[in-house]
Amino acid sequence: MKYISADIKGVKIGHGHPCVIQSMCNVDTNDIDSAVSQCRALHDAGSQLIRLTTQGLREVESLKQIKTRLHSLGISTPLVADIHFNSDAALAAASVADKVRINPGNFHRDHEQACIQFRKFLKICRDNDTAVRIGINHGSLGARITEKYGNTPEGMMEAIWEWVGMCQEEHFENIVLSLKASSVPVMVKAYRLLYRRMTENGVIYPLHVGVTEAGNGDMGRIKSAAGTATLLREGIGDTIRISLTENPVKEIPVAARVAAYIAEGRNPLLKDGTFRVDASTWEDFIIDAACAIGPSLLDRTADDFTLSGSVNGKELSEEKINSFKNDIMQATKRRITQCEYIACPSCGRTLYDIETVFSEVKRRTSQLKGLTIAVMGCIVNGPGEMADADYGYVGEGHGKVTLYRGKEAVLRSIPQTEAIDKLLALIESDKNK
Ligand code: SF4
Repeated sequence: MKYISADIKGVKIGHGHPCVIQSMCNVDTNDIDSAVSQCRALHDAGSQLIRLTTQGLREVESLKQIKTRLHSLGISTPLVADIHFNSDAALAAASVADKVRINPGNFHRDHEQACIQFRKFLKICRDNDTAVRIGINHGSLGARITEKYGNTPEGMMEAIWEWVGMCQEEHFENIVLSLKASSVPVMVKAYRLLYRRMTENGVIYPLHVGVTEAGNGDMGRIKSAAGTATLLREGIGDTIRISLTENPVKEIPVAARVAAYIAEGRNPLLKDGTFRVDASTWEDFIIDAACAIGPSLLDRTADDFTLSGSVNGKELSEEKINSFKNDIMQATKRRITQCEYIACPSCGRTLYDIETVFSEVKRRTSQLKGLTIAVMGCIVNGPGEMADADYGYVGEGHGKVTLYRGKEAVLRSIPQTEAIDKLLALIESDKNK
């Protein structure tokens, strides 16, 4: 088996290297002061790579300035440009960023044109020693793939494998691959399929793993820990990003805890289906418990479990244990007892306070058991990436929102102040149809 490692200006990702922790800024990349200060906070928290939204050429220029400013502060954490759709921005970022994240399928509507741009892009990356992440998310597959495979883990794997083939033709090896989804079972299946395909082909590329749009609070952490730990335990995954709809600095301790849990080979199983987890904070407790119990729920080798534990020496109440239990059952899609949420972590494209809006949407829709509601930060990627949501709240910017029923935009440009009321009214009127 040939194992490939990516090298992002000295940060090595791949087999034999410790799992790399990373995150992404959610401020406007053109607001250089805010971006530098968030990069600094992420660096101080332990982020080994930092990604920034890079929509166009102006953001590429800003990225250059941010890099210079960080270097002058003695911070050399590699910067990753996050590109969607704009291949000109990808080509420009390839000589500025240390790594560029792209979905080449979005480079052009025409597949042949997308291939031409991708080859040009790889050449610039090679010339500048820039690494590449090919990131294909569930919900962002083009018609070419969905017509053949549907919007499925198989489709995600086949889509990425085409681009890997092109990298092989170009003898470009400095790549990391990702196949993220907001559904934990879908994400786990996609990465396993990809790992199997790589094994069959005798070459293992580094993988960036994460549950995308995991939301916030306990559920965001539980989904993320259950999904990533399941893969990492099998040796699938070399770098993690935990996507929370919160300040990105809060993602770092979660990622670090999951990585440490796997690296240390912890196992709190007392006997068949009975676990005991002791931790010093509630956050650490739910992460450890999700790492321990998530894999067997996802793989359906267990249907239930018994859990006890303590936080900071204090035994947890039955109510707290049951709250965790309901969350992990829902996160692994083994028992649905709540409304399901998909919420993007936000980024430089987000033009509203998504954290506050998401909390308010959750508060007002929590009784809608069985529905999936998405809250997305932008109209560019939001609609595609909310995947299988029943309803979507998508920020347009300038205080306006589009509401979706499934994939259909049903109310456009409504003022943000009225959007949650209108969302509830839409759900109610659909219920009465
Ligand atoms: S959906 Fe959210 S995270 Fe994704 S590009 Fe839009 S604002 Fe950024």
